Amino acid sequence: MFDLPAQRAHLSEKYDLAPSPELAESMSDIYDRMSRVVSPVDWAIYAPYVKAINDLKAERNAVILGHNYMTPEIYHGISDFGGDSLQLAIKATEVEADVIVQCGVHFMAETSKILSPRKTVLMPDMEAGCSLAESITAEGIEEMRRRYPGAPVVSYVNTTAEVKAASDICCTSSNAAQIVAAQDSDTVIMTPDQYLAQNVARDVPQKNVVWWEGSCIVHEQYSAKDLRDFREWNPGTRLIAHPECTPDVVAEADFSGSTSGIIKYVTDEKPEKALLITECSMASNIADQLPEVEFVGPCNMCPYMKKITLEKVLFALDTMTGQVEVDAAVADKARLSVQRMIDLSRKLGI
Ligand code: SF4
Repeated sequence: MFDLPAQRAHLSEKYDLAPSPELAESMSDIYDRMSRVVSPVDWAIYAPYVKAINDLKAERNAVILGHNYMTPEIYHGISDFGGDSLQLAIKATEVEADVIVQCGVHFMAETSKILSPRKTVLMPDMEAGCSLAESITAEGIEEMRRRYPGAPVVSYVNTTAEVKAASDICCTSSNAAQIVAAQDSDTVIMTPDQYLAQNVARDVPQKNVVWWEGSCIVHEQYSAKDLRDFREWNPGTRLIAHPECTPDVVAEADFSGSTSGIIKYVTDEKPEKALLITECSMASNIADQLPEVEFVGPCNMCPYMKKITLEKVLFALDTMTGQVEVDAAVADKARLSVQRMIDLSRKLGI
């Protein structure tokens, strides 16, 4: 369990973390990347943490990987690389670093460790889970294999190492349809996200896609009626949904794509107004790069992603606690599933 008071006492003994408008001013190059969504007062609070973390990163030869759903002070302030879970895991293999700090959720840190077993991977809060990853175990995969004998198992990267190890191949929301279409079987099992699977089933009608009944607690909250109401009250707004949303929400949207697909779409299209039907920080993290786009409307926060804070990142790097370990035999099998996905994606030119 997280001992926040003890952590704070430890940090305050070693670092001057008092809000500092002067320090904030001297770091305006970093602030410029988030000035549309972070107030100067908040930046004066964050700046001492950002400086301490960036100094410590150099000392530890560490690299920070920030998922698109991180808050802007993490995404723009301390992350060396931002992206979706797969982009970050691949980046973990490419960087010349001794330490990877995963600013995201636990399955992402596990994936980095699976792909980079010799690097130290730190998770600033071990309780940053994921409703999808928690919805299925390796036994669940075996149950699906019993129900659909001979059908290949395509598991979303939002799964534990054990589940990846028990699967045939992984997928992400950006390559799921192509990975499923490329399977040499009429029936394909998709786990654990029932909505991603249903969206893929619509796009790949030649396959009989069957699924596990997991869901993302952030994306399942949106309804098609929400989108219709929003469109009526805010005409001209482009509605952009993540494929973890239900199929009727995706059908109601103007575009659906993974977080990297959403960034590409908004960057290419530059709609006057956009509603991103996904986690709240997505819009915040791209707002400064796209000043011509007004991001509007409601969003839902992921309580797991929001467990990662500057304070926890500083503590993890300072004390080198929160090291993620994956059993070597499990990691070897899980790596095969992830590597098959990477190889197939490259072959298909995705
Ligand atoms: S947004 Fe959904 S899929 Fe992503 S970490 Fe949170 S619960 Fe998991």
